[in-house]
Amino acid sequence: MTLYLPFCSFPLPPYRSIPPALSPLLHSASPSPLSPPASPSLSSEPDWASVTLGVFVCQGCSLLHRGIPHISRVKSVQQESWEASEVELMAAMGNEAAKAKYEQKVPAFYYRPKHTDCKLLREQWIRARYERNEFEFIEKQEPYSAGYREGFLWKRGRDNGQFLSRKFILSEREGALKYFSKQEARDPKAVMKIETLNATFQPAKIGNPYGLQITYLRDNSTRNIFVYHSDSKEMVDWFNAIRAARFHYLQVAFPGASDEELVPKLTRSFMKEGFMEKTGPKHTEGFKKRWFTMDDRRLMYFKDPLDAYARGEVFIGSKENSYTVLPGLPPSTQGYHWNHGITIVTPDRKFLFACETEAEQKDWITAFQRVINRPMRPQEYAVEAHFKHKPEQTGFLYRDPRISLWGSSVPLQREQDGRHGRNASERREVSIENTFFSTSPDLMPKPGVRGQGV
Ligand SMILES: [Zn+2]
Repeated sequence: MTLYLPFCSFPLPPYRSIPPALSPLLHSASPSPLSPPASPSLSSEPDWASVTLGVFVCQGCSLLHRGIPHISRVKSVQQESWEASEVELMAAMGNEAAKAKYEQKVPAFYYRPKHTDCKLLREQWIRARYERNEFEFIEKQEPYSAGYREGFLWKRGRDNGQFLSRKFILSEREGALKYFSKQEARDPKAVMKIETLNATFQPAKIGNPYGLQITYLRDNSTRNIFVYHSDSKEMVDWFNAIRAARFHYLQVAFPGASDEELVPKLTRSFMKEGFMEKTGPKHTEGFKKRWFTMDDRRLMYFKDPLDAYARGEVFIGSKENSYTVLPGLPPSTQGYHWNHGITIVTPDRKFLFACETEAEQKDWITAFQRVINRPMRPQEYAVEAHFKHKPEQTGFLYRDPRISLWGSSVPLQREQDGRHGRNASERREVSIENTFFSTSPDLMPKPGVRGQGV
């Protein structure tokens, strides 16, 4: 039997021995409409309850409840003795009634954390619900629902990596999030359009428990900024203000769409991040260790995980459009240090990667397959076309003509094909392209041939 606690929103294992008085209460809990967790193993023994709020909670949430002892007193269902009055209170409230009371007016855009989310989001969700009663009184939601938000955030400096206080303004009317390098400055240092804005908490990568990565597109290339606020509520309010702005923008852009269709598009987590080795377009350059981010269909790589922009971006389409991911590397491949290869075949070329462990290789392949197995939406064809219509026509973006982003600093080569190339960078890309068109079918990766661990 799988049991869902409405509060905890993930399935719990069957109970072992529940005090008879509490047992019927627990089992009357109905399935949660919230998304279940990615892994059932995250669930823990369901033996906690808040005897002041009258709800059953998982162990993970019980720890968060201990952070608001003036609101919630947590008790073990099995290990502690229960007063008759406490059992009565559990019966009188219960998880469903608590949800109806404390979640009366959760805005559609407001992020409802999952158990896999960072502690900041989970803790603030519990505080917003029980301590601040934000979802019972709409006036308490102004910090993120007013359509305008102004304040200071610590922003990581692009060059020196130091965090400096910067003024940020989010304006739905202007359709942008802006920041200013000096308090009295009139012109913003950056204008990030709400249309392409994303925000995702990255505490480990940024090295701050409240660290937020904000991405946006500039000239169709991804830009990153890294910020945090020292106050946890303020930080989560910023996050939800960005979601609100995105929500209202999308409501206008897609007037027929339902909330259920729009809410998943407000912010997104990366599908996968981590180090891999990569080689250049000729596949003869040595492999170099780089940080990769898979942001939906965009695979980007960075020299440093906290770089302001990617060295290169590749669009990963669907299998219907001739994109494939295969374990292993072509047999002739040399120069890699890590033994778990991955080959991505696109209509234009192959991309070779090497992972340090077999587990990493599997995770990456799973992430690639998730997007490759998903048919492309009409908007995604437009994105793919943008990648393809770059002058080099090789399906990947270049930011600086001196730097080949997927084959770092390939020297300029002589023009090999007179039909193409009006300038140096175009000529160079054409020559890279030719390298790929001359690729022999023998180079198709053969899984397992070179002992890549699969
Ligand atoms: Zn929980």
